[in-house]
Amino acid sequence: MAEPLRIGVLAVQGDVREHATMLQDAGAEVVEVRRPQELDGLDGLVLPGGESTAIGRLVRLAGLEEPLRAFRGPVFGTCAGLILLARAASDGVPGQPLLGLLDVAVRRNGYGRQVASFEADLDLAGEAEPLRGVFIRAPRITERGPGVEVLAALDGDPVLVQEGRILAASFHPELAGDGRVHERFLEIVREESCVGA
Ligand code: GLN
Repeated sequence: MAEPLRIGVLAVQGDVREHATMLQDAGAEVVEVRRPQELDGLDGLVLPGGESTAIGRLVRLAGLEEPLRAFRGPVFGTCAGLILLARAASDGVPGQPLLGLLDVAVRRNGYGRQVASFEADLDLAGEAEPLRGVFIRAPRITERGPGVEVLAALDGDPVLVQEGRILAASFHPELAGDGRVHERFLEIVREESCVGA
């Protein structure tokens, strides 16, 4: 039998456990990442939701900013993780670290602070069944580069996007009990490891 995929989950703040459960349910081995050396030998990496300013601060303190930017495998970011991946974020904290691995600009809490949280059914590219999107103080994707593919949208705004090995959601697929987005990420990881082999 093939070795399970080793997927890191950035574990400085946020909903780490929920991602770990989804990944383990899909057959992956999970490594919690708090230090640069824990990135070694990973097939892919997840940046969870939480608070992007706190995650950014802790990433810097742990000396993880450059190692994360240099990580060459597939990366999946949700909510705050999407903000971290973006090249620009408005309504952020000045100096908040952004990895710039995904060619999008986001607005933090871009669905309004009043309507902090909501759920919506999303049409997922290539799937007949809608996906329940859980949005919690979600970032809104306001700009995207030509290489960024939209896999799901809400009222015309992209909410699940892919650019090559990078996958990102403004909502929380780890909270809705539906493993399809994590499965899709593991598909990207499998494809990349074939290319890299
Ligand atoms: N609003 C949060 C931020 O700016 C993200 C919220 C989330 O990850 N649920 O980081």
